[in-house]
This record gives sequence, structure tokens and C-alpha cells, in this order.
Amino acid sequence: MDQFDFCIIGAGVIGLAIGRRLAHTGASVLLLERNHHYGTETSSRNSEVIHAGIYYPTGSLKARLCVAGREALYDYCQRNGISHRRLGKLIVAGSDQTGELEALQAKAEANGVSDLQWMDQRQLRALEPQVAAQQALLSPSTGIISAHELMDTLAGEFEAHGGLLSLSTGFEGSEPRGEGFAVRVSSGGEPYEFHCRGLINSAGLHATRVARRMRGLAPEAVPELHYCKGHYFALQGRAPFSHLIYPMPEANTAGLGIHATLDLGGSVRFGPDTLYLDALDYRMDDGRRDSFARAIWHYYPQLDPGRLTPAYAGIRPKLAGPGEPARDFLIDQPLAGLINLFGMESPGLTASLAVADYVAAALEDRLP
Ligand SMILES: Cc1cc2nc3c(=O)[nH]c(=O)nc-3n(C[C@H](O)[C@H](O)[C@H](O)COP(=O)(O)OP(=O)(O)OC[C@H]3O[C@@H](n4cnc5c(N)ncnc54)[C@H](O)[C@@H]3O)c2cc1C
Repeated sequence: MDQFDFCIIGAGVIGLAIGRRLAHTGASVLLLERNHHYGTETSSRNSEVIHAGIYYPTGSLKARLCVAGREALYDYCQRNGISHRRLGKLIVAGSDQTGELEALQAKAEANGVSDLQWMDQRQLRALEPQVAAQQALLSPSTGIISAHELMDTLAGEFEAHGGLLSLSTGFEGSEPRGEGFAVRVSSGGEPYEFHCRGLINSAGLHATRVARRMRGLAPEAVPELHYCKGHYFALQGRAPFSHLIYPMPEANTAGLGIHATLDLGGSVRFGPDTLYLDALDYRMDDGRRDSFARAIWHYYPQLDPGRLTPAYAGIRPKLAGPGEPARDFLIDQPLAGLINLFGMESPGLTASLAVADYVAAALEDRLP
């Protein structure tokens, strides 16, 4: 039976980052991707924002890995020529939201995000004349990135360090064997079995389905995963803003509110909203234009809804169900040598390099 040090299931941005990290240690790494190309699921259906790390509970994995991952990502982009821009973002608020804005600033500070700047209405108007709000927080370390260029670079580096990327290869099942796992896959329709010392489940929206096919795993080690869709609408014509514009986050919502992001071409898109689904469905719903317009008018009253065109949708792999409080990433080691990554929603793109370091540290005893 073929033998690898590590097998990673899922070549999204997180699986690719873990692959690159482990391949750098000299380990033999097999990265499985069931689609014909890497990164075609959640990693290419998101806002492409490099988050600062403002919102997450202090001490949570989301907060720690976002702050560490953000700096690592800016550095990685610079060293590898990956398109990105540190545009900055404004969190805009009404005059009755001073307390909430202060609380957000305090939370950010506790998370290690100490560069937020308070803007009064005059300063905000000078910065973004089209935005209607009484006050705002400016986050200078928020930016945007080309997720595709990032993934291409990670994949290239992975392979250059001896990593094996196996596309059109789906994980079928595994069982503990010796010091590691026997793994069954289907590669281009052909069955193939091998042994690895460490196994990493980074299958995104399918991570619980993958985990249920691992023998030796207690059912309580596999949480329930919820699909939460987010739609995006593009704004036709000239961009009215030069920063990312976010409303104040509402308590207990599954997203950050319909916000405005810019892409690297300078176009504005709005989203994502939140809609829990029973099954994966990426179709766009033109009927959402009105609810988008109502949300956007709060901070951009000059919006002409006729300029909004349906763009695309992404689906968050959420541990929290509808109406439940937000949950942290779950990076779990239920058996020696096995890592399951569950609930890798936002800020998973920002955090990807830090998640890879975290997984490598957890598997230190299996490194060559
Ligand atoms: C609407 C939306 C907006 C977001 N915005 C941002 C943002 O602005 N900034 C940010 O930092 N994060 C953002 N995120 C989060 C970010 O996109 C994700 O955290 C990240 O892409 C997750 O990467 P992943 O590798 O875990 O998952 P994925 O990209 O989903 O990759 C998982 C891979 O596993 C493969 N797979 C599944 N089952 C198997 C199997 N049996 N065998 C082999 N392969 C398998 C899949 O085909 C897939 O390619 C957003 C997410 C959403 C949904």
C-alpha cells in the first residue's frame, strides 16, 4: 500500500494553505480534491475581504487566527505578487449608536486590532461624500485580495515542495490502521487505497459528511452543519465609494449586514445577505433586489435600485443554526493524527495561513 505522511481532504484555500505548510516541512503530502479544479466552492464564492479581526469574541479561534492570518496574508501577498489592496473599511453608524460603536472599538482593541479611528460626520463626509451616517469607525488594516491568485500561488508552492495534488479524487472512507489511517478514495472513477500517518478533513461544506465516513469516530465528534447562503448584487457604473462600507452588525444575525465591497477592478458589489438552506443551491434570486435596496439606502440613499444586477451567491458552512448565537471555528483532534475542521466560514480566507500553522502545530508529533 502506498504511504504518505499526510492526506488532506479538500483543496479550498484552507486545504491548500495546510498543504503548503506541511509540504515545507519535507513531509510527503497528498491533497485530495473531488472537483476538476481546486478552490471552486466557498473559496471562490466570498467577498475576498482581508478582515482586520474586529467582531469576533476575544480569545476565540476566529479572533486569534484572523489577526495572525491577516498580517501573514499581507506579507505573503507582497512577497509573491498576489493582487491585493489595503483599502480600509468604514463601519458606519447613526447618532444613537455611539455606545455600540464604542463597544465595537473596545472589542477590536482586546482582539489586538488597535488601529481603528473614530470619524465624526464631517470627517466621514470628507472621506466618503456619498455615505449617509453620523459617525463611523475606520479600519485601515482591512483590505481586498484576489482569492484565485492566492490559491494559485499556494498550489504552485505546494507542488514545488513535492506535494501531490490529486484532482477529481473524492474521499470515500478511512479507518485507523497502525500509526495512522487506511484511506479509500475514488480517483477519476477508479478506487485507490493508501496509508497516511496524519489525516486532515478540510472539506468545507462537506466536512461533516466526510467525517461520518471515518471509522473509529464517535458520532458525537461530528457536529451538525447548517448551510447559510449569501447573495451578492453588483452595482453597474462608477463606484460611489473608495472604502469598504459596512453597517453596524445587528445582534444575533448570521452575517455582518449587507455591506459594500470593492473588487480589485474597482467595481462595487453589495452583500452577502443570509438565507438558511436545506440543500446546496447557488442560484441567484432577482427578487431580492428590493430587500437589498432597503438595506443599502440606510447608508447610501442615492442608490438607484435599477443599477443593481444579480452577481453570485456563496454558502457558509455554519455550526450555528437559524437564530442561534454565532459559533467559533471548530478545529478538532478526535483521534491521534486526525484533524477535522468544521464551521470554516468567514474569516476563513483571511485566517487561512494561520489555520495552517495551527494545524501543523497540532500534528507536530507526526512531522518528519
Ligand atoms: C458568502 C461568503 C462570504 C465570505 N467572505 C469572506 C471574506 O470576505 N473574507 C474571509 O476571510 N472569508 C470569507 N468567507 C469565508 C471563506 O470563503 C471560507 O472560510 C473559506 O473559503 C473556506 O475554505 P475551505 O478550504 O475550508 O472550503 P472550500 O473552499 O469549500 O473547500 C473545500 C473543498 O473540499 C472539497 N471536498 C468536499 N468533499 C470532498 C471529498 N469527499 N473528497 C475530496 N474533496 C472534497 C470541495 O470540493 C472543496 O473544494 C466567506 C464565505 C462566504 C460563504
